[in-house]
Amino acid sequence: MYNKAKKILKTVYGYDKFRPMQKEIIDNILKKNDTLVIMPTGGGKSICYQIPALLFSGLTIVVSPLISLMKDQIEQLNENGVNAIVLNSTLSRIEYSNNIYSILHGKVKLLYIAPETLLKQRILDLLSKIRVDCLAIDEAHCISEWGHDFRPEYRKLAEVRKQFKSAVCVALTATATPQVQKDISKSLKLEKSNEYITSFDRGNLFLQVESKIDAYEQTLEFVSKFPDSSGIIYCFSRKQVEEVADSLDNDGYTALPYHAGMSDQARKNNQELFIKNKAQIIVATIAFGMGIDKSNIRFIVHYDLPKNIESYYQQIGRAGRDGLQANCLLLFGYGDILKIRYFIDQKEGRERKVAEMQLEKLVAFCKSHECRRLPILKYFGENYEKNNCKMCDNCTSLEKDLTDITVPAQKFLSCVKRCNEKFGMNHIIDVLRGSKAKKILGFNHNKLTTYGIGKEYSKKQWNFIAQQLLDQELMVQDFEYGILLLTDLGWNVMKGEKFVSCKIATMSKNRTVLMEDNLQFDSELVSILKQKRTNLAYEADLPPYVIFSDKSIIEMAIYFPQSKESMLDIHGVGKYKYEKYGKIFLTIIMRYCQQNQINEKPKRARKRRLN
Ligand code: ADP
Ligand code: MG
Ligand code: ZN
Repeated sequence: MYNKAKKILKTVYGYDKFRPMQKEIIDNILKKNDTLVIMPTGGGKSICYQIPALLFSGLTIVVSPLISLMKDQIEQLNENGVNAIVLNSTLSRIEYSNNIYSILHGKVKLLYIAPETLLKQRILDLLSKIRVDCLAIDEAHCISEWGHDFRPEYRKLAEVRKQFKSAVCVALTATATPQVQKDISKSLKLEKSNEYITSFDRGNLFLQVESKIDAYEQTLEFVSKFPDSSGIIYCFSRKQVEEVADSLDNDGYTALPYHAGMSDQARKNNQELFIKNKAQIIVATIAFGMGIDKSNIRFIVHYDLPKNIESYYQQIGRAGRDGLQANCLLLFGYGDILKIRYFIDQKEGRERKVAEMQLEKLVAFCKSHECRRLPILKYFGENYEKNNCKMCDNCTSLEKDLTDITVPAQKFLSCVKRCNEKFGMNHIIDVLRGSKAKKILGFNHNKLTTYGIGKEYSKKQWNFIAQQLLDQELMVQDFEYGILLLTDLGWNVMKGEKFVSCKIATMSKNRTVLMEDNLQFDSELVSILKQKRTNLAYEADLPPYVIFSDKSIIEMAIYFPQSKESMLDIHGVGKYKYEKYGKIFLTIIMRYCQQNQINEKPKRARKRRLN
């Protein structure tokens, strides 16, 4: 069986290797053992049930919570030559009855369906007439009331299962919480020995946290490094979303908003434009993302602090599904902590305790100088063994990046002291910069010895310095009013017993190099091929990545395939796709190589195969 699965991976999907655990999971499903799959977002869960579906003689039913997710999966499968369909209310009468016909006559391998549709008696009756070999439950955390997207209809799936006696059940999710996992297993009666949990590390995500000084400027600079690449910017509030989207639009980017305050239709439109690469950036509240599988998202910005490590990780997980490098920037400002605290304060009892603990862990993550992957993976119960991931700001920064800020630190801290530890950051900065604001004069703070001693730095620079002092716990901020107080460590600095240094903002340096840059690819050819992809996608009304992923195109511009055989060696080029699109691309590449006198580079030493 294993050889057959491997062959399908190559011929249908055009992939060379299984990702961790995929092979084991597929084997287990083929043995008809009910299976639980826990893999991070983008880990490759779909293939785990799709390949068995192609090997089973009967139908595989895939339960999925969202129409957009089903649509995406079906488009991808169809473009690989696999017959997969959906039954839902968006279909026309004719499409619907055609699909029913295909099911009854064994013409489809995979049926995607929402739980509420599957639960309809009429559908259950229909499906009782045919052989069902597998019931895959995607986004299985929807079963659990502990999960973030509880869906009551999912609960009833346990009951439905009994109707499909010959079907193996596979539940899949990216939720790592043990409680949710237990809930899924219990509800579907899955056995411990059939649980497959992969590492949650996503090695192709570059993680970076920066002090939030001027969020918009920082975002703009970051975004400018990824011309024409898709990205998501997450904000805390709807208002913020609108503002950032507007500003980016003014600055020449196609950026669209997405939040719960918009109509369903408007949100759907914006999502569609983003998926089809017609809008480069989506600015969203956390409401965005669950319904998309777009594979070429290259950057994520957290404009505001996310709620906790889990939601942070889920959000950045939407980037880099194609396996190429993606860059994630989190802007960390103390003001955001106050905002989140405000919401926590509305909660009570256990819920409040949990939220407080989560916030604490998130703040510790932001302030940490160790590898970013350590605290994240620890949160998911994993030990990260490598001592340098090479893919986070802390692992790639050098000691010499440290700048001595002892003198400004002393100025700032003594000003906090002079103001009797009763004021917040902005007030202190105003005093240092010798502001004539009413509030300053009203408190007679223009008479302080620290008044006007910090004119050499801008507001922004002082803000940055103050963040560093908070990070290093030389002072603390009162959660209610934002008042600054000195710590013992802070006193030591003031007395000259301790030096202070910090990393200057990483953003000005070019750390976020795309992985593509490290590979030698022909960028002119890439843009020619991407243009072709855009045209084909437009004609077929499909998202471009469904035709070929960025990774496929980049490989084409590295190896310059000159024959059918070498084209089939390219990542993501299966047999069907070769016929449909590969040939067209091959012609373009051959012409380009001829014009520019470029020879093919072998992707790997090809083995002689007997088949
Ligand atoms: P998940 O459902 O776990 O979030 P998907 O199943 O959508 O992830 O897979 C994410 C991406 O990875 C898809 O584009 C998929 O085609 C790709 N992928 C899956 N398995 C492999 C593999 N073995 N080799 C290369 N790409 C893969
Ligand atoms: Mg999935
Ligand atoms: Zn690291």
